[in-house]
Amino acid sequence: MLCFLLPLWYNPNKVVINTDTKEIILELRTQYGLSQEQLAEKVHVTRQAVSRWETGETVPNTETLKLLSGLFDVSINTLLGSPRQLICQCCGMPLEDSSISREPDGAFNEEYCKWCYADGKFVYTSPEELLDFLEGHMSNETWPPEQVRAYFEAQLPKLNHWKQAET
Ligand SMILES: [Zn+2]
Repeated sequence: MLCFLLPLWYNPNKVVINTDTKEIILELRTQYGLSQEQLAEKVHVTRQAVSRWETGETVPNTETLKLLSGLFDVSINTLLGSPRQLICQCCGMPLEDSSISREPDGAFNEEYCKWCYADGKFVYTSPEELLDFLEGHMSNETWPPEQVRAYFEAQLPKLNHWKQAET
């Protein structure tokens, strides 16, 4: 049955439509049972400002986005409608809100995954240490360890964390 239904919705060329910031804020506010007034108070803006976000007239500024991120426990990238595919700048894995690292105070650190950066510290002190880990954990019957290592050896220098380490 599924194979008949599949062509109806499966279209690999179709880009996933990002939800707008305005819809996301409205949805989260509703989900948290807050009025525009209550949300405004929590992030130190006027009710009119919240109203303007929800009509799409304006987008919250960076400071307010941080407050909203903390309040609703979603990343800023999510609040902005996921304009970027976040990638861990240490190991290269694509990031979802559930795998994004956090600072010790609970705020998202959207640069890294939670396995590479935890409790305010980087887990791997050198690319070799990370390569050893990846080689052991990413390899399988179809992707042998030496290929895994070669792949990541080429990828890691492109990531910000290791770029910085070199300079
Ligand atoms: Zn990582």
